[in-house]
Amino acid sequence: MNASSTPGLPPEFVAAVQRAAMPDFARWHEMIKAAGGCEQPIRLRGERLTLDGETGELIESYSTDDEPTGYLITACGNRRASRCAACAEVYRDDTYHLIISGLAGGKGVPERVSEHPRVFLTLTAPSFGAVHTRREKAGRVNPCRPRRDRPLCSHGRPEGCSLRHAADDPMLGQPICEDCYDYPRAVLWNAHAPELWRRLTLAVPRYLTTELGLTHKAFRQQARISYARVIEYQRRGLIHVHAVVRLDGPEGPDDPPPTWATSDLLERALRAAVTEVSVPIPHPGEGSTPHTVRWGRQVDVQAIQVAAELDGIADKHVARYIAKYATKGAEDSGTVDRPIRYPSQISTLEVSEHARRMIWTCFALADLPEYGPLRLRKWAHMLGYGGHFSSKSRRYSVTLTQLRQARADYAAQAARQADGHPKPAPEKPTVTTGRWTYVGSGLLNGEHFWAEQARNRIQQARRIRQQVTERDQSQKVS
Ligand SMILES: [Zn+2]
Ligand SMILES: [Zn+2]
Ligand SMILES: [Zn+2]
Repeated sequence: MNASSTPGLPPEFVAAVQRAAMPDFARWHEMIKAAGGCEQPIRLRGERLTLDGETGELIESYSTDDEPTGYLITACGNRRASRCAACAEVYRDDTYHLIISGLAGGKGVPERVSEHPRVFLTLTAPSFGAVHTRREKAGRVNPCRPRRDRPLCSHGRPEGCSLRHAADDPMLGQPICEDCYDYPRAVLWNAHAPELWRRLTLAVPRYLTTELGLTHKAFRQQARISYARVIEYQRRGLIHVHAVVRLDGPEGPDDPPPTWATSDLLERALRAAVTEVSVPIPHPGEGSTPHTVRWGRQVDVQAIQVAAELDGIADKHVARYIAKYATKGAEDSGTVDRPIRYPSQISTLEVSEHARRMIWTCFALADLPEYGPLRLRKWAHMLGYGGHFSSKSRRYSVTLTQLRQARADYAAQAARQADGHPKPAPEKPTVTTGRWTYVGSGLLNGEHFWAEQARNRIQQARRIRQQVTERDQSQKVS
């Protein structure tokens, strides 16, 4: 029977059935399940040898020549949900565990850490021009930007907007007048946000030493500030920073904080530091005003509590929030999720007009020698921001690498046992060498269906596991 003539069945389904009929399907299916249903799996060819670390004797060998597929699949590992939903889920899970272990303990962090003063901090960008906004008051949506005498800007456009925008209105976050909007400063703000954050982390201990009358040395002997932070793109294309900031003893989460450490004091220090820090930036051309980058005036600091009933926000809520943003890119602001190589691409990109202007501005500023070090061309698709999406101080909790290693070790051991191999003797040192070549990436014809099915199953299992853990935890609290 010719599959393409099968009546009524979508072609993807027909292709999926054909793929399943191929001799290597069973092994391929196993591999894609092990890769979590990755949407951009990487195909590798090569071999791996495990040798006895002392004698050099071959203990085990593996070659893709022996695989029915002729290749091995590994997950792409992309953090972004827009690029690979499966790998982003894994990343989100890992980030959640990383954050929650720094708040409630676990994964090698003692539970006592939940008694350390900690706050959830949200930092914003200043305004670089009026944008369309949705204003809600007592359940009613108010006009965006009402102006009684309907003034016009110097470009002849209305300065106000009387619309009551819907929550999904694409106009939200877009400037009222694009020619009035200060694009260079908006881009430069995004570009300097990492430095602004760095300076903030230095200013907080400085404030505390002054407030407490301690020397820097005495402070370091008594306390340490740990943090984990993530960035979020707003619709106006500027970033927000969300961070967990914690006061520990000098050795970090294992060490009780000094008696003077309270979340009120931490909040005061953060608020003072946010107002104080700035980054002076070079200004090209004569006659232009010198410019200083600062945080926006909207700052939110909330104490983090073990349970939501107390005054503040719950640790689980914070961890979930941060994990959610860790898998996002700048796409929510209407831009693209991969680098833009040439200016000629910009006019045809499927982005909002506001994002397009931000991208153009990045390319234009990149040519000025003063802004060379900001590498604005490279970060144009990020609207100028070249920092990490999530980061943490060294002693916050476990690292993503530790979590990945634990998962890889577990998977390797499970695979060995499934194959009937004994557990490797832990006292026996082994050396593993591998030689791999890249064959290709992505799913082939008929494979999407199976990858999606694997992904759905894993997601379902993860949801059930989460529900069980949450129920166990709430029973423990009550
Ligand atoms: Zn992937
Ligand atoms: Zn409006
Ligand atoms: Zn204007």
